[in-house]
Amino acid sequence: MPELLPHPLTGQPFASPVPPGTGWPDDPAVAGTPVAHDADDVRRLAARATLDELDARVSVCSACPRLVAWREDVAHTKRASFADQPYWGRPIAGWGDPEAAILVVGLAPAANGGNRTGRIFTGDRSGDWLFAAMHRVGLAAQTTSEHAGDGQALIDARMVATVRCAPPDNRPTTEERNTCSPWIEREVTLLAPSVRVVLALGGYGWDATLRSFKAAGYDVPRPKPKFGHGAETTIADDVTLIGCFHPSQQNTFTGRLTEEMTDTVLRRAMVLAQSGA
Ligand code: SF4
Repeated sequence: MPELLPHPLTGQPFASPVPPGTGWPDDPAVAGTPVAHDADDVRRLAARATLDELDARVSVCSACPRLVAWREDVAHTKRASFADQPYWGRPIAGWGDPEAAILVVGLAPAANGGNRTGRIFTGDRSGDWLFAAMHRVGLAAQTTSEHAGDGQALIDARMVATVRCAPPDNRPTTEERNTCSPWIEREVTLLAPSVRVVLALGGYGWDATLRSFKAAGYDVPRPKPKFGHGAETTIADDVTLIGCFHPSQQNTFTGRLTEEMTDTVLRRAMVLAQSGA
């Protein structure tokens, strides 16, 4: 029997789903879900996982000691404004259509966003910006993404984080990034048959996409194409990678990223996806 982490809400091993009405995602892990304790485990457990197995295994991963300590510490101490709420405090699996044409690749969950709600870009300001834009162009069912029970849904799109645990200062180390990379590499492989466009949020997502597709055995351009807002390149023969400035408050408050700029790249992604580009 593998060692299981206590569920942050119930304190029990992952033997039962999250209680209904909490607004959390259904727990993808069950009592027998294997737990990765180091980089070798991650490689081994990601290698032939189905998408459901991947989601479950990611959600209980424990391979990066610093990030495990951080995500659980944040979940325990909580931001004052969320003091009455349970925190997920675990890694965040990919979310959305398992046969999506558009894949959105971000950096990592926010400490009081995804790490609290259990869903990527959910419950933080970056997500507010992103989901409002995705709704405007028809890629999200609602304008907001507040918690996993809010009725939000992605339309022909899926979102993944490059690093699946919230890192201190939003900065994973290179070792942590490398340890986590088999998860996204496997996800890219599983999604490749349907994905026509990858929207990379920020240079980190851009680099991670190129690295992941290359590691998964797909052709990527050389030399490495430069990231920029609206930059495009072709990967894996028929997938277009599009760059988008990250919707962080640092970018949206300063006007570096405007609503119009965001909508423009999202609409471009939709045109390419619908044309089978
Ligand atoms: S960052 Fe990735 S590899 Fe590290 S503990 Fe989280 S899910 Fe596991």
